[in-house]
Amino acid sequence: MADANAAYYGGRDPLGRAGDFTTAPEISQMFGELIGLWTADLVLRAGSGSMAYIELGPGRGTLAADALRAMAKAGLQPPVHFVETSPVLRAKQREAVPAARWHDGIATLPTDRPLLVIANEFFDALAVRQFERTARGWRERMVANGAFLPGDTDCADEIPIALSDAPLGAIVERNPAAEAIMATLAGRIAAQGGALLAVDYGYEGPATGDTLQAMSGHAHVDPLEAPGTRDLTAHVDFAMLAAVAREHGLRPTPCVAQGAFLTALGIDARAAALSRANAAGADAIEAARYRLVAPEAMGRLFKVLCVRHPDWPMPAGIA
Ligand code: SAH
Repeated sequence: MADANAAYYGGRDPLGRAGDFTTAPEISQMFGELIGLWTADLVLRAGSGSMAYIELGPGRGTLAADALRAMAKAGLQPPVHFVETSPVLRAKQREAVPAARWHDGIATLPTDRPLLVIANEFFDALAVRQFERTARGWRERMVANGAFLPGDTDCADEIPIALSDAPLGAIVERNPAAEAIMATLAGRIAAQGGALLAVDYGYEGPATGDTLQAMSGHAHVDPLEAPGTRDLTAHVDFAMLAAVAREHGLRPTPCVAQGAFLTALGIDARAAALSRANAAGADAIEAARYRLVAPEAMGRLFKVLCVRHPDWPMPAGIA
């Protein structure tokens, strides 16, 4: 999955109508603007103007451009650091945010100031391992000859205790890359100050279920077909991310639905203001707002988790 996604992202810009999938910042400027204001509000209340704005997997740089514009109105112009492995997307990001600096991984991010880290649809792109309860016990799901089959090695140690008695055929997912990135960033934020905001589709584990999926041309396709040409994702376990952050000294907020978060941050007022300024675009603005917040669209499946330095205040938008 890691190799397939590296090849996939490395060779194309998959976003938007002509691509394979669309993300919240590509639906409307309101998403990035509200995250920018959320960031500015948190930083100003923490009394920390000298932070760095970090984005993990910034796509086309749209979220960052919208967020930075909103932050500038609040008087903040932080240095911008992007963690991005795709050369094609780096080129797009350079057009959107020319002043950014790029990193292959999180190890080289600045060490001298608080980090405000935004990760929208980043953790879902990292490789999961899947374990299946078979008649012989827990086995990792392997791939051979284009099909899934259980491995030979006992993997009971990988399974959370709460799930160890799951029924035959149950699948448990783990995301070691997400765990490692969260552990390192949490350690950095605990030492330097700051917060991380993760927005993604996911659940609060421990839970069973196969969430591996492949998207091509906005449709679900077979994840084992044509590796490197389709977007592979798995749902994010927000309870796991929160637990790792807590172990490394941070304070997690409750995990809230994207719809509730954006509504609490004032998306209705922002949509109304944009529509007043652009009456001809009012229907499109309302359609975008609906898509971001409605429970039957992105509003419920997408969730928001913030983990912060223990001395930092409670962020906005999380009841
Ligand atoms: N945040 C953007 C893009 C989401 S798509 C948006 O909301 O529109 C996933 C992004 O993560 C892409 O930019 C992809 O190139 C990047 N990415 C995927 N795997 C990565 C990895 N292992 N390290 C760094 N970036 C990665």
